[in-house]
Amino acid sequence: MRSAYNELMAEALVVLSGGQDSTTCLFWALQQFDKVKAITFDYGQRHRIELDSARKIAELANVRHRILAIDTFSALGGNSLTTSDIPVPTDEEQDGLPSTFVPGRNLIFLTFAAAYAYQRNIQDLVTGVCETDYSGYPDCRQNTVEALQLAINLGMESHLRIHTPLMWLNKAQTVILAKEVGALDAMAWTHTCYNGQFPPCGDCAACVIRKRGFEEAGFEDPLLRRAAKSV
Ligand code: ZN
Repeated sequence: MRSAYNELMAEALVVLSGGQDSTTCLFWALQQFDKVKAITFDYGQRHRIELDSARKIAELANVRHRILAIDTFSALGGNSLTTSDIPVPTDEEQDGLPSTFVPGRNLIFLTFAAAYAYQRNIQDLVTGVCETDYSGYPDCRQNTVEALQLAINLGMESHLRIHTPLMWLNKAQTVILAKEVGALDAMAWTHTCYNGQFPPCGDCAACVIRKRGFEEAGFEDPLLRRAAKSV
C-alpha cells in the first residue's frame, strides 16, 4: 500500500498515544515510510497506563520514541481525562461534547509534533484522528487538520503534511486496517479504557466503542486475550 508520498527517503513522525488508533497509524507508517519515529505527550493524563502502553508499543514496533511533557492541561481543568473529580462518560447518549473533550489538545499536540519534526527535517506527521464513529471531537475533523496544516506551514515556512489514515474509517474498518498493517499483536498492549483499567472496565464509552469495532470486524481483541491470561 505504498503511495505517492514517498519519493525519496521519507521519514514520518507518528503521534502515539498508546491507544488502538495511533498504534494502527504507527504500523501503517512503517509500511508507508522508510523511517518512522514516534512521539507521545505526557499531558498530565490521569491514567499513566497510557504512557506505559506507548512505550511498549514503540518498543514492539522498533521505532525511536520520545515522551514530551506538557503539564498545562490539568491546570486548565474542566475535562475528565485530566481532572479526577469529573466522571468519565458511559456509553449513554448525551448532548454536546463529552467530558473527555480536552479543548485544544490535538491542536497543541500536532503543533508541538510539527516543531519536533521541523527540527529533524521530517516532513510527514501521522495522527490517528478520525471523524467517523467517534465522540464528535471538533479537533479530530478533517477541516480542522487541514486548517492546522496550513497554519503550521505558514508559521514555520515548512512543507509539512499531516496524514490521517483513519479519518474516514469506522471502528471496524480501523480494526481491519490494523490487521492488514500487522498491528494486531501490538494491539494487546494498547490502552483505551477511560477508567484507566487493565483489564478494561468494558462499560465506559471508549471500551464499548472498541468492543463493537472488534466484533463488527470479526476478530478477537488481543487486549482482552492478554487480560484473560493475566487474571
Ligand atoms: Zn473502560
